[in-house]
Amino acid sequence: MDLFQGQNLLEFADRFKTDENCLEYLSYFKWKDGFICVKCGHTGSQIRKDHSRTCNKCSHIESATANTLFHKVKFGVRKAFFICFEMATTTKSLSASYVAERFTITEKTARLFMHKVREAMKSSGKHPIKGKVHIDEFVIGGKEEGKVGRSYNSKKKKIVCAVELNEEGKVKRMYAMGINNYSSKELKKLFDKHISKEAKVTTDLWKGYRPLMDDYNITQVESEGGVNFKALHTMIHQVKSWIRTTYSWVSELNINRYLDEFCYRLNRSQMKNNVFNNIIGRMVTTEKIYQSKFVCR
Ligand SMILES: [Zn+2]
Repeated sequence: MDLFQGQNLLEFADRFKTDENCLEYLSYFKWKDGFICVKCGHTGSQIRKDHSRTCNKCSHIESATANTLFHKVKFGVRKAFFICFEMATTTKSLSASYVAERFTITEKTARLFMHKVREAMKSSGKHPIKGKVHIDEFVIGGKEEGKVGRSYNSKKKKIVCAVELNEEGKVKRMYAMGINNYSSKELKKLFDKHISKEAKVTTDLWKGYRPLMDDYNITQVESEGGVNFKALHTMIHQVKSWIRTTYSWVSELNINRYLDEFCYRLNRSQMKNNVFNNIIGRMVTTEKIYQSKFVCR
């Protein structure tokens, strides 16, 4: 299979001219490690013209899109490929209304599919940060009231965010997740998913981090108005303005999806050449999600 590389839209349009081109690409990703029948577990199959497969034992036919996040996409797999490409390579914010207009689909359809792509962008949590990490919390949404310090305004969404820094103090990776409050128990969720016990963690003086010191290597320093967490606060500023300009209203249920999308792109900004294949691979392996799982607003 001739894998697509890079971010050039003209080359992309040239490579994926028809739904059939896309189905062939999907079938490659889906069965590159071999076919296993979902009905009977048999591994022998016939490849059909439309790139689906027929099980040699029970004759069950499985399409290239079945059991993937492309399952039953109403507007055709080619448009879906383009939306994946845009979402994986853009450096700008991409709203559902913009995508709807560009691909002549309804805004609701665009929003639902974009949430599926975000689901595929979710971190596996398999590569916890081992090096130097800065962690802080922030809020998104609600009306700004000029309050200083940790906000307890319930309309705002509370988020905890970690950045891994390289030797020069630049951001290598970032993870963020919504939390219910700033307690140790809630903060620990981010640590357990993304931070290795070997990592050298720095936080500000918030007491919520103290109980985590038993398990993690945490140093607390005065924030000095953010001066001591400059790279982290630059990222937080970017997430906030990205969400503010794209999504006027982000539901509690979906906040993590937007954070996943932001972190996915940031964490792959050095690997853009292969980012499309990465997202297609994830779309194929992430279990299909039913509409009911989303709050579509
Ligand atoms: Zn079978």
